[in-house]
Amino acid sequence: MTDTRPVLLTGISGFIAKRIAYDLLQKGYHVRGSLRSMDRADEVRAAVQDPGDNRLTFVELDLTLDAGWDAAVTGCQAIMHTASPFPLASPKNEEDLIRPAVDGTRRALKAARLAGVNRIVLTSSMVAILYAERPAGYAATAADWTDVGHRTASAYIKSKTLAEQAAWDFVKRNPEVQLTTVNPGLVCGTPMDNRFGTSLELIQRVMSGKDPMLPDIPVPIVDLEDVSALHIMALERPDTIGQRIMATDEVLRMPAIGALLAATYPKRKIATKPAPRFLLKALAMFDTSLRTALPQVGLPMQIDTRATTEGLGYSFVPAATSVKRSAEAVIANA
Ligand code: NDP
Repeated sequence: MTDTRPVLLTGISGFIAKRIAYDLLQKGYHVRGSLRSMDRADEVRAAVQDPGDNRLTFVELDLTLDAGWDAAVTGCQAIMHTASPFPLASPKNEEDLIRPAVDGTRRALKAARLAGVNRIVLTSSMVAILYAERPAGYAATAADWTDVGHRTASAYIKSKTLAEQAAWDFVKRNPEVQLTTVNPGLVCGTPMDNRFGTSLELIQRVMSGKDPMLPDIPVPIVDLEDVSALHIMALERPDTIGQRIMATDEVLRMPAIGALLAATYPKRKIATKPAPRFLLKALAMFDTSLRTALPQVGLPMQIDTRATTEGLGYSFVPAATSVKRSAEAVIANA
């Protein structure tokens, strides 16, 4: 890597960003990671296996505050904006999720433009694509957008959709900005450390055997390894500028995830059957994560990711492998 200008990686303490930081450092990049507090710097250094040659540095940034953004982007070759709140259950006030996501994206882009840093890779989500009224059998592509008024649109779904839309609107007004978004499904796989957050919580819950049956919810799966590789591909390949890269290839329904894990761990009590809707409705009264997911029960979901597999020539880790990697991590950290 001859370009010694750093890549600003926002939210470097996150599950996904730790892997991206590790891969960037392995490839020789200089990485400037943003944290909400420098107190997490040592934890991140350990997780990303900092080579200790001063290529990894940190800055403090908060998505909800203006302070620090201009200095953070100055001198960077590009920005990878991954930071965004990602809770499993919706907060009481959905603006608590939407505002940091949207305003943080705007802050990142504005600071980048002012500093003349035009290459941006934004971590969006498949949730910005998937949730809208569609004809039966329709397979969603990167041309599709979630309808934030759709019955399934939780606060998180809205936050990611509106944040990505804000980014593309910004590009329309500032055509010199070269944006690529990476839109991952639910990220499974082997985390860089034991602070893996919301992503693996779903697998953790299935593994726990707490639920006798599982909601029939479709989950597009992607491995952490692929999400990181696609961010770096986006950074390195000019042909991805202007693209939304769908980072997922297979949709598994929750009972199928249960069946896969039950077959892998036959001694564990893991649910495999779909739960009836009336039961889920009753349980959702006491379970905020379930309440958030309830509108997705029974939802059909098909995706067409040929733009990633054929267009960009990318091969994904099979979803079953990725789910099993998550399960291994959950067991190792129990
Ligand atoms: P994590 O919760 O592990 O990471 C989120 C990151 O965002 C953390 O670094 C967190 O900082 C930071 N962050 C949250 N709120 C703020 C704030 N107000 N100011 C500054 N930083 C903030 O989640 P993931 O790594 O899983 O997610 C990373 C990105 O990927 C997000 O944009 C998420 O929407 C997206 N994504 C994730 C998927 C998944 O399955 N994991 C799927 C699709 C998209 P702190 O550590 O201080 O909380």
